[in-house]
Amino acid sequence: MLYKSTRGGERVTSAVAIKNGIASDGGLYMPEALPSLSENDIKSLSLLSYPERAAKILSLFLEDYTLEELSRDCKSAYSPKSFPNGAAPIAYLGEDTGVLELWHGPTCAFKDMALQIMPRLLSRALTKTGETRKALILVATSGDTGKAALEGFRDVERTGIMVFFPANGVSRAQKRQMITQEGSNVNVCAIRGNFDDAQTGVKNIFADTEFAEELSKKGVFLSSANSINWGRLAPQIVYYISAYCDMQKSGKIASGELIDICVPTGNFGNILAAYIAKKMGMPFRRLICASNINNVLTDFIRSGTYDRNRVFHTTMSPSMDILISSNLERLLYLTAGEQKCAEYMKSLSKLGKYTVEGDVLLKIQKDFEGFFCTEEECLATIGRTFETYGYLVDTHTAVALHSAEAARKDGTKMLVASTASPYKFAPFVARALGICDKGEDPEIFERISKYTKTEIPSPLSSVFSKEIRFEKNVDIGSMKDAVRDFTKSLV
Ligand SMILES: *Cc1c(COP(=O)(O)O)cnc(C)c1O
Repeated sequence: MLYKSTRGGERVTSAVAIKNGIASDGGLYMPEALPSLSENDIKSLSLLSYPERAAKILSLFLEDYTLEELSRDCKSAYSPKSFPNGAAPIAYLGEDTGVLELWHGPTCAFKDMALQIMPRLLSRALTKTGETRKALILVATSGDTGKAALEGFRDVERTGIMVFFPANGVSRAQKRQMITQEGSNVNVCAIRGNFDDAQTGVKNIFADTEFAEELSKKGVFLSSANSINWGRLAPQIVYYISAYCDMQKSGKIASGELIDICVPTGNFGNILAAYIAKKMGMPFRRLICASNINNVLTDFIRSGTYDRNRVFHTTMSPSMDILISSNLERLLYLTAGEQKCAEYMKSLSKLGKYTVEGDVLLKIQKDFEGFFCTEEECLATIGRTFETYGYLVDTHTAVALHSAEAARKDGTKMLVASTASPYKFAPFVARALGICDKGEDPEIFERISKYTKTEIPSPLSSVFSKEIRFEKNVDIGSMKDAVRDFTKSLV
C-alpha cells in the first residue's frame, strides 16, 4: 500500500510517509486505499490482547513493516510498565455510555497512545529508507502532545526532539511536565503567542528549504510528530476498533451493533481516526465532533464554511483551543478529492476560510455531527457526572460528554473518547467539584483525591519535585534560531 499527498503529489511507502511527516507539496499523506474489516475479522481481533490487535491493524496500513516488527514494537509500546491499567479500558456510565479512557500512559494524556509507538516506527523508517542523517522532530503543542512526544522520543537513537509551547496557553502541570523533561536528545522552548502561532511557526520552518539544506549539511533533517504524521494517526485507529471488540466481548453490544462515537476535538486527528475505522467497515453510526467555544468545527460541519477569522478563546480545555484543525484536510481529501482539497487549503491560507460544495457537505454530514460546549457547561458536566456516577472526568472529556448528551437521540450506545486524566487539569476540576482550587497543583491534587477517593496518577505526582531543565522563552520570529542552537548539541 502506497501513500499520497492530500494535494496530489508523489507516491511513497509508509516508511517514507512516517519519515517525512508532511508531503513536499504541503499536503498530508494518506493511504491510496483503505483496508477493510469484516465482521469475522472483528471477531478474531476480539480474541487478541491490545498489543496484538494493534500489530494486526497497523500491518494493514504499514505494508513495508513486517508483522514481526510491528508485534515487537506494539508489545513494548503498550506494555504494562507504560500502561499499568491496560492500554484503553472502558468505564460505563449507566447502560448507554461507554467512556474510552485513553490516558493511562506515561503522560496521562491520550497522545501517549500514538506517541509511545510512533518513535519506534520512525526509527525503523530511517533504516528502511536508507537514511543516514538524524531526525530532528519539531513539535508545536497546546500542551499534551509536547510532553507525550518528549517522553516517546527521549533517548531514541538517531533522533532529537524540540517542542514549542505557547507560554500562556498550557496548564501549570503541563508546563512543569515539559520543562523538567529528562533525556539527552530533548529540548523545550516557550513562545510568546498562542498555539496557532506556534504551529504556524513550525510549519514555516518546515517549508524553509534553505534552512533544510543548512541542517542537512550538518547531518540532520526535520520531521514532525504532530498529529499530521501518519505514524501518529494509524495507532489511533486501533483503539476505536479495539474498544468495539471489548464492548462486544463484554456483552455490552451485540455483534455488528451500530454505535455512536463522540470525540473531543482540536486538530481533528482523534476523530479522523474514528472516521477511518468507520470507512474500514466498523459499525459506527454517527461521529460526534465535540468542541469548546473555539467552535470553528461545529460551524463547519453545520454550514460547510470553515472560517478561522474569529476571536481565539483560551479555555479550560486548552488542548482543543485551535482555530486551524490540520487533520481536517484528510477528511476534505476523502470527501472532495485532491484537487478541491488543494483549493480549500489555498483559500484557508490566503483568506482564512473556505466553503465546501453542497455534495461535499452532505457527505460530511452523513457521518459527522458537530456540537460544542461552553465553559459553564463544561464545569457543570464535571460536577454532574461525579454526582450521578461517582466518575471523575477532565475538562476535555467533559466537553465530549456534554456534546454526547446534546447529540443523543435514541438508545444507540455512545462511546465517548476520554482524552486526559482529570488530574492533568486539576484547578478546573476542583472548581467544578466545588472544592478549593487555590494554590499549586500538588495541593489541589491532594484535595481532589481526598474528595473523590481517586488516585493521583504517579507520573503527575512526581513532576513538582523534578528539576527544571528548560527556561527559554522566545518570540515567534526567533523559533528558527532556537532550532539552529539545539541542532549544535545534537550532532
Ligand atoms: C490533543 C487533545 C485533544 C484533541 O485531539 P485532536 O486529535 O487534536 O483532535 C483533546 N483532548 C486532549 C486532552 C488532548 O490532549
